Amino acid sequence: MAYKIIASQCTACAACESVCPNLAINEKGGVFAITASKCTECVGHFDEAQCVIDCPADCIVIDKAVPRYAAA
Ligand code: SF4
Ligand code: SF4
Repeated sequence: MAYKIIASQCTACAACESVCPNLAINEKGGVFAITASKCTECVGHFDEAQCVIDCPADCIVIDKAVPRYAAA
């Protein structure tokens, strides 16, 4: 149920952190990551994933390791 950040391509610009309606993006030790359990793919908030739109490095992608988010 989530997007993920490709760490090797992330420039740590922090643009994504503040746009997430679920506060699912956090920085730790200079590394930005999405907490999968908090990411709703922006469903219910926006039509498009806000972090993806705002990432200048285009390094936020769907994490195929977890099921797609489905609104309850
Ligand atoms: S897709 Fe939406 S909910 Fe998920 S991390 Fe990005 S901004 Fe947050
Ligand atoms: S917007 Fe993109 S490049 Fe910037 S911190 Fe987030 S994932 Fe990294």
